[in-house]
Amino acid sequence: MAGAGTFVIRTMRLQVHAEAGLRETRDALTNANERLAHLAQYDGLTGLPNRRYFDARLIRAFRDAQREQQPLAIVMIDVDQFKQYNDLYGHVEGDHCLKLVSAGLRLAAKRPEDFVARYGGEEMAMLLPKTDAAGAELVAEAARLAVVNQRIPHAASTLGVVSISLGVAVWTPGAQGTPDEMLRAADAALYQAKDQGRNKVQVNAER
Ligand code: GH3
Ligand code: MG
Ligand code: MG
Repeated sequence: MAGAGTFVIRTMRLQVHAEAGLRETRDALTNANERLAHLAQYDGLTGLPNRRYFDARLIRAFRDAQREQQPLAIVMIDVDQFKQYNDLYGHVEGDHCLKLVSAGLRLAAKRPEDFVARYGGEEMAMLLPKTDAAGAELVAEAARLAVVNQRIPHAASTLGVVSISLGVAVWTPGAQGTPDEMLRAADAALYQAKDQGRNKVQVNAER
């Protein structure tokens, strides 16, 4: 009897021990999965959502805008004369500069539903739900000022400090168009801003 009791108790202890081990493994896997999901969606340098995340978010935001009959604005952003910045100060400083620019953009896009992403290289993008052309122009202008007011020295630029150019496109209820067309319109506006001398906001009023 006593022998059987000891055996049962020992077996139960082993079982409890094994269950605790399984729980630890499960928690470690959950953590690893969360870290992987974060890596897949965010940019390691700036901490901003990456291009993949932006693309997915744009499709969702566009659908929401259509369903709710609300405007949606996209702002495409590109650091001015950034190749020269790297050539002059080196890539480590270049990377640091991109972090500062990202922080400036985040300050300008204040609403919780605003979305600022690193689109690629020295290009960033914003999604501004429920925002019309006038509102988007205000946010873009605030972003332009936030960056230029950081006064990051850039000896090769006309201003002497780092600046950005911004292109805005807005979808308004009732308009035709697709997320891709919005991106192209914002990009076209960005290139106009560059043509006009950089450190500028250009709104593409077509849509
Ligand atoms: P523009 O005013 O017309 O935009 O001129 P630009 O020199 O900024 O444009 P260009 O597209 O020729 O150069 C972009 C440069 O951005 C190329 C590359 O050296 C730099 N760049 C892109 N991604 C990174 C990055 O992650 N880190 C650093 N340090 N530099 C980057
Ligand atoms: Mg570029
Ligand atoms: Mg550039």
